[in-house]
Amino acid sequence: MTTKTLNPLFDLTSHQRQPSIKNGLYLKDVLSVEQFTKDDLDYIFLRANEMSKMAARWGTCDLLKGYTLACVFYEPSTRTSSSFIAAMERLGGKVIPITEGIQYSSVSKGESLIDSMLTLEQYRDVIVLRHPEIGSVAKAAKYAHVPIINAGDGAGEHPTQALLDLFTIQKELGKIDKLKVAMVGDLRYGRTVHSLTKLLSQYDVSLRFVSPDTLRLPLDLMNMLIDKGINVRETSKVQDVIENADVLYVTRIQKERFTDLAQYDEVKTFFEITPELMEKAKQKMIVMHPLPRVGEIHYSVDKDPRAAYFRQVQNGMFIRMALLAAVLGQA
Ligand code: ASP
Repeated sequence: MTTKTLNPLFDLTSHQRQPSIKNGLYLKDVLSVEQFTKDDLDYIFLRANEMSKMAARWGTCDLLKGYTLACVFYEPSTRTSSSFIAAMERLGGKVIPITEGIQYSSVSKGESLIDSMLTLEQYRDVIVLRHPEIGSVAKAAKYAHVPIINAGDGAGEHPTQALLDLFTIQKELGKIDKLKVAMVGDLRYGRTVHSLTKLLSQYDVSLRFVSPDTLRLPLDLMNMLIDKGINVRETSKVQDVIENADVLYVTRIQKERFTDLAQYDEVKTFFEITPELMEKAKQKMIVMHPLPRVGEIHYSVDKDPRAAYFRQVQNGMFIRMALLAAVLGQA
């Protein structure tokens, strides 16, 4: 899928705000991290770095002028929806968000997801879609004629989050190979964990999974890791992994996926990352979280330079700028 070329998108040395060249990676849709090769990932990260330089120097540009994005969220979102909106605006495009008003759209009248997509594509060039059902975004992409970007399909995948997570790891620690990554929390329903695990399985990493017994990583993912020969261990105690982790990837318990709230109550206070716990961690390591946090990381950890979760948020905009450019043939 990738044609490797390092021609820059922007000329930052002159006052040229137009893209200097179109080349590189074209994506039809972004549905799952499984579609990306390591070369694609390098390319996206390269473009995301360029986006960050462009934003620092010029703020905005005209790369996607004339394009419009429909941002359609059937589940709540703060970061993903707002960063896609910010990304499109920084590239000179327009956005019509349908993020707060699903109850006012025709979905509330019983319109199917496919009909909504076939309607929106009549006046949009790209659709970012979040939906509670696993596989629903891929299904919408089968019918739609414009690019569809998966912004989370239930407990399935969250590919753009995983791309920004991996980008953050590389930026913060300078590499991905040879790292020990510990994922903590709701590994069963956490879609960001599922996507990041798949991406990391392309690298030479050791993975540690920390969760209550009822929220362990799905078996198909665990088997995939074992088949690939990845060094994996499971435990229910953060204390078992804190000393050796290069990355502590913390997630919240996904309350909305539980059918029995009594089961949620049993695990909701499973763990908390505190300054005392951080004393046991390496000096050079990072704590990440896809956010929102609901008690998993104590607020006093925020002062610790190893707390990377808000830097992670900023990286999200640059990755999404790179992805929007790629699906619209401008990367
Ligand atoms: N914001 C992430 C997601 O949409 C993580 C979370 O909600 O816990 O999956």
